[in-house]
This record gives sequence, structure tokens and C-alpha cells, in this order.
Amino acid sequence: MTYFKGLMRPDRRQFSRRTRVCQTLTGFALLLLLEPLYAGEAEIDQSDDGSVTVENSILDDESPSGESPLLPENLLDPGLAHIYMGPLADAVSDAHGKATPLHLLDTDIEPGTSQRLTWSATELFDGVSVSTPVLVANGAAPGPTLCLTAAVHGDELNGIEMVRRVFHDLDPSNLSGALIGIPIVNVQGFRRESRYLPDRRDLNRYFPGNPTGSSAARIAYSLFNDVIKHCDALVDLHTGSFERANLPQLRADLRDPDVLTLTHGFGAVVVLHSKPGVGTLRYAAQLAGIPAVTLEAGGPSELELAEVIHGVKGIETLLTTLGMTRRVRLWGDPEPVYYRSSWVRANNGGILLSNVSLGSTVRKGDLLGAVTDPMSNVRSELRSPYSGRVIGMARNQVVMPGFAAFHVGIETDEASASQQEQEVVQKRPQGGYLDSMSE
Ligand SMILES: [Zn+2]
Repeated sequence: MTYFKGLMRPDRRQFSRRTRVCQTLTGFALLLLLEPLYAGEAEIDQSDDGSVTVENSILDDESPSGESPLLPENLLDPGLAHIYMGPLADAVSDAHGKATPLHLLDTDIEPGTSQRLTWSATELFDGVSVSTPVLVANGAAPGPTLCLTAAVHGDELNGIEMVRRVFHDLDPSNLSGALIGIPIVNVQGFRRESRYLPDRRDLNRYFPGNPTGSSAARIAYSLFNDVIKHCDALVDLHTGSFERANLPQLRADLRDPDVLTLTHGFGAVVVLHSKPGVGTLRYAAQLAGIPAVTLEAGGPSELELAEVIHGVKGIETLLTTLGMTRRVRLWGDPEPVYYRSSWVRANNGGILLSNVSLGSTVRKGDLLGAVTDPMSNVRSELRSPYSGRVIGMARNQVVMPGFAAFHVGIETDEASASQQEQEVVQKRPQGGYLDSMSE
């Protein structure tokens, strides 16, 4: 818990110390160490080549002292530190008095009203202003501010529609607290149907950003400073990446009690315990004391209705369990929590055809799919190394050796679950446990 106190409640002393240390060789060495993480061209391999281990090793190394990672991109302005509100689960019941206007992006949103605002990143491309809508509903009653972000990767469309539907269904006169939605964070990527920014950088590796850094770092800083710091909790919406699809699932650091509150609130959504990768929006929010989860659903470049409906139900159930809205019925029994997962990779190149579908339950040794070389007609089978459930998988396609094809959530019985969690917390994740292939 010490680790979380350090992470969740940053103070000025901590920030100033961090700034000083960063000016030393230690900071410089880390800058060199992390250089590959910020090279846009290497992005596809980053998630596959073990760089996640590097990221998490930094978190692990820093965590005993409660210090935050000393990353050059992470010099959070003390002014950005979120004001801690107490347990998220009690945020509505603890809120007293009348609702107040919400001040956001130079606008006051009166209680009981909704507005559509515009956020423009400080960094412009080609001198052309790039702006994106920010939807705000300020409830008639006081409570926490929940934020929804979507399309941080510009080709991930399902979240955009989820945000639209949640706001369409919402009546601010029956809301306690506020809901802020940014349906298209990476508007440049969205226009180009691309995961990346125009310079091939992955925006979700640059949070909380830097006002004098790369263009990605500046956009990240602007979003974090202008909007995210106003949030008391965050749900970042994603899909699988590169022709892979995910069973609707929450990625969450279950060591944080407020993050647990969020995951419990969603109802029937699978939960995968995962520490956030450095530079992700989830990571930066957590660092600033804002509990955050990533909701993964479906794959990129498509609008998948079943996944959209699943996500909307989850978010609307969350609004009810947090006490922000009142619904007669909550949605479904909780789905399993997976403390471990593993990617099964293709060992040969060729045409991948699957024998399972998203959500399939598999036993150890079950056939997941096969890769056939169209030239030699040699076929190699991919079998599950564990008993568990298919929580992510590649669409049928041509793959190269090493391509991550199936993501298996590994079954753990109730008795060993907490022990598994401890092991996950204490041990660095092995290759394949944590992936940033989507988030
Ligand atoms: Zn994503």
C-alpha cells in the first residue's frame, strides 16, 4: 500500500525532488534507456519485444520508496496533481451541499445542463488548427467527475460510438456529479484511419506529456492539463490493435482500491489485472491520483455493434454503482478476474485460420488455430499452453513468425487468486504476460 500512497498522493516535495534528480546523470541514463520507447517507427515491435518489461521494471524499481518513475516525459507540474477526494465508492454519498458550475476549457457548465465544448491541442500540424469535441454533462446534484476518453488510437472506433450512446442516454437533471467525454482524442489519426499521429508516434506512450517536448508530448500535455486533471476517475476506451480483437475487458491495476471500485462497478465485464505501461493515459492518470481503467472491446477500423452495446452497458452500470445515476436493475453477474494471461505466437509464417472465437473456453493443449504456408503447404498448429479463456485474438490473416495470435486469460482458482496477485505484484511480468498491443 505504501507504493500506492506514493503514487496516489503526489506532493510538492516529491515533485521538486524528482525534478532535481532528473537533472542528474540518473535521469540522463534513463533517457537513453528509454529512447527506443519513443522512436515511433519501432512501435509495432515495442509491444512484442519485451519493452513492456523495461517499462515495468522502472515502476518496480521505484515503487519501494513510493517515488514515481523518473521519466523525462513525466515531470508532472505540481499544479496538475489531482486533489484527493477520499474513496471513490463514497464520492456521491460524501458530496454535500448544492452542485456547483463545472469550469472546463474556459467555460462554466451550470448544474443540470449539458454542453459540447472544443479542445484544441497546443501543437498544430502544418499550421492547421486541430480541434475535437468535448461532451460535458454537469449533474443537478453534486458528486464525482467521471471521464471517458476514446480513440487515443485514431483507428479504434468502437469507443467513439460508446461515448456518443452514453451521452445520448444521459439526463443531467438526474445525474449526481459530472460526466466528461472526449470521443476522438487523436483526431489526426482518426482522419487518416491510423492508430498513430501523423509523425508515426503513438500518443498513448507520451502521457502526461511535456509542454516543450515532441509534438506527441505536447498534445498529451495539453489534454492532460486542460481536461484529464478535472477527472476524479477515468475510463479510457480502446480496441485490439493490428487486426486483433479483444473480448470486452477491463485492464486495471487491482492493487489500487479505487481502481477495484471501478472494475466492480461495470457488471458483467471480464477483468485483466495489469499494471499500466509507462506513458499510457492510464499510467499518467494513476500517477496523478486519478483512478483509471482501460476498457478494451473488439478490434480496430470497424464499428462492432455487439462490443459497443457491451461497453455502453458496462459504463451505464458503472454510473449506477458509483451512485451517479439511478437505474432499477444492474447488469449481470461479475465476470472472472484474470490475474495472469499469455499470448500464443505463430512460429511459422503463413495464413492464420482460427479454430476458436473470442470468449471460447479452452483446455491446455486445445487447438487454437493453424498457420499454413501457401507456398510449401506446410501447416503448423497453435495450441493453448494453459487452460483458460480466449480474451483476445488475431483476425484471420497472413502472419509472420512471432506474431501474437491468441491471448489466453489463465484460470486461477479462488484460493490461489490472492497469492497470484501477490506474485504478479512482486515479480516482473514475464514476456507475454502484459501486453500493450492494444492499449
Ligand atoms: Zn488503443
